[in-house]
Amino acid sequence: MNSSKPGLLAQAAMVTGCGAMAALTGVDLDSYHLPLAWNLSCSTAVFSALLHLTTTAAAAWGTRTHRCPLPDCDFTVRLQHVDAGENRRWQEIAAHHPHTL
Ligand SMILES: [Zn+2]
Repeated sequence: MNSSKPGLLAQAAMVTGCGAMAALTGVDLDSYHLPLAWNLSCSTAVFSALLHLTTTAAAAWGTRTHRCPLPDCDFTVRLQHVDAGENRRWQEIAAHHPHTL
């Protein structure tokens, strides 16, 4: 099983929640008697923004970043959902990686 991505149930919950918020936005905007195209475009924008926010937050959950301690080096390693041993191994690699001269 791939544990680096949210599960199917979590993805369904995110899409359902974002869809519900977009529908509520559409109902709110309907009281202003906006044209249907405007209402749909605003609701779709709310759906897209919320879905992007939740998927970005879900991807960041459990992400570890290790950087080289040298000030002029930009070597960076990002890991998602790894165990403590693997995390420690990459932390040491980032701290002692070979530099090109
Ligand atoms: Zn370095």
